[in-house]
Amino acid sequence: MDLLKAVNKPIDADDETIRQALEDAHIPSLMNALVHLTGDADIIRGDIQPESGFLVDPQGGIAEEDQTRIRQRALEALQAFRDNGQRLPPAPGADLVHEMVNFASGQELSPEYGTFLEAELALHDEDSYGVPELAELPAEARANFKVLIVGAGMSGLLAGIRLKAAGIGFEIVERHGNVGGTWYQNTYPGCRVDSPNHTYSYSFHPTDWPQFYSSQEVLRRYFDDCATHYGLRESIRFHTDVEAATYDEGDGVWHVDVRHRDGTAETLVANAVISAVGQLNRPKWPDIPGQDRFRGIAFHSTEWEHEHDLAGKKVIVIGTGASAFQFAPEVAREAASVTIFQRTAPWIFNAPEYHEYVPDGKHWLLNHVPYYAKWFRFSMFWRMAEGILAAAKKDPAWNETDRAISAENDQLRELLTEGITALCEEDEDLRDKIIPDYPVAGKRILIDNGNWIRALRRDNVDLVTDPIAEIDETGVRTESGAHHECDVLVYGTGFTASRFLWPMKITGRNGATLEGQWDGDARAYMGITVPNFPNLFCMYGPNTNIVVNGSIVFFSECEMRYILGCLKLLIGGDSNAMDCRQDVHDAYNVRIDEGNRNMAWGVSKAPTWYRNDKGRIAQNWPFTLREFWSQTREPDPADYVFS
Ligand code: NAP
Repeated sequence: MDLLKAVNKPIDADDETIRQALEDAHIPSLMNALVHLTGDADIIRGDIQPESGFLVDPQGGIAEEDQTRIRQRALEALQAFRDNGQRLPPAPGADLVHEMVNFASGQELSPEYGTFLEAELALHDEDSYGVPELAELPAEARANFKVLIVGAGMSGLLAGIRLKAAGIGFEIVERHGNVGGTWYQNTYPGCRVDSPNHTYSYSFHPTDWPQFYSSQEVLRRYFDDCATHYGLRESIRFHTDVEAATYDEGDGVWHVDVRHRDGTAETLVANAVISAVGQLNRPKWPDIPGQDRFRGIAFHSTEWEHEHDLAGKKVIVIGTGASAFQFAPEVAREAASVTIFQRTAPWIFNAPEYHEYVPDGKHWLLNHVPYYAKWFRFSMFWRMAEGILAAAKKDPAWNETDRAISAENDQLRELLTEGITALCEEDEDLRDKIIPDYPVAGKRILIDNGNWIRALRRDNVDLVTDPIAEIDETGVRTESGAHHECDVLVYGTGFTASRFLWPMKITGRNGATLEGQWDGDARAYMGITVPNFPNLFCMYGPNTNIVVNGSIVFFSECEMRYILGCLKLLIGGDSNAMDCRQDVHDAYNVRIDEGNRNMAWGVSKAPTWYRNDKGRIAQNWPFTLREFWSQTREPDPADYVFS
């Protein structure tokens, strides 16, 4: 498998190959691709129109005979394209793109969506997340400006790629021995991306994903390949941990204290620091009485100890979040027994293609049919993220909020409940245990194809909902007094996500520390900048997470474009520092909090890592992805104090 760019290959296939490939087509995406291919928009203006929404099948409810008509039309168009020099007609203009977006979503969307998606999908093959004006600044000024990027995961690599392309000096420090961040660190069995892969990838680096939701190893290789392809490796210091960063107000620079693996320390100096440390990498250990008394093998899912053979072992799993959901079924295949402790049941979205390989025909279409991959990316984006968001929003007229928060949310509840019930078959006890008692999207919705429920129904698997009272030398005792013995205890208890940038000690202007200023309640402007910490930029910072299954890569690309805009102001201007205005930051956060209060995760009382110890939703972005894209297009200098 070639994980480098695989799309936009010329068409040299014979008719039969094309005909067969079209059998695997996503019809609404194919119809929009036909507009590009033929220049004729009538195909999306006729009687074949996809419906919108999560209740509709992935083909948008388009009837079989209509699908056949479209495939035939596409075959003819592709033959003509192949045989006549493979030249495309003029690209669709803004109005037509808006029409195509409406068509693909099955909804009448605002014109801003046309502009947004024209850019996000790079429909004119432009790079919509770069800042071309940077190139107009003197090369020497750009090269002499030093940016230190902390972390070589998805966001840190993206920052490096962008800074390199802009000719800005940079260095990346990474505590691990290789790139990939979460995809390098998490190696637990069954680990795979749970957002559709065709959206979980850099917009500028599409690839030929082997599966719709590829495995950890494939994701790790994608980022590994990107690091090599974009020539970043020589700019990365591996096995280097940032311990502290202190802003020097006199010189307007950051002094960054790092420690190398051999124990030696060093202080690096940078004009700006980009924190790309992620939110989900420091294990969160629970605080269960007796935890330290356990004498068997115990480890956390994110620090999987592969040296232990779990075959024939009695295993206890604590937690039923996204991690446990993936590894517990794998462990159950070989362990003598698996006892899973569930505190809060997750909502489950049935995605039959979750473990499926992308069929050959679809690979061919994605790689060869002009613009098909872009519209397929849009369909994933719409179906799994933006389009589902409305169902997570509270209807002010909806009174009872324990079960659902709007008619649409209730409808989604029904749909997911039906899916869970069907998989439980006659096992009513199990069904009653795993149907959540809070609104859908109160916590992250987990993607599955029945794998989880099938695992729970195995003879060697027991799902315990009785709360844990203590852990002792040999296992777990619940509040009812039952004792569950085990050889191995796996903590699938999540991450210290609310402690942003922790444990780095960051000191800004006037000795302010980030930890002290935040006091357990991290906030930032746009999720990126923090008052009193000039030239410090966060990626995947506070309130930039998404609950429905959209892509964090999208957020990082928006954030990096905004950061490039800030660097343009610094390199091209007279000031060497920009500090976010407190009033601007505060007003922004009032809006964010208000937004989150109206979303399922803000209304629901279910425990979630989205809420910090102060009770505030510090993780999530409450509005549409389009709005995040718009607000991060470029910084407004009026939002900052320059010095
Ligand atoms: P998580 O969602 O925070 O889940 C932690 C689990 O441990 C929850 O079930 C929690 O119960 C339980 N738990 C915590 N403390 C406990 C205690 N003292 N007693 C009993 N149970 C306890 O963590 P995660 O599963 O690692 O996932 C975190 C996030 O990482 C996900 O939401 C997702 O964004 C990301 N992730 C993504 C993927 C992917 O893309 N493939 C895979 C894994 C993770 P409660 O629910 O009651 O709190």
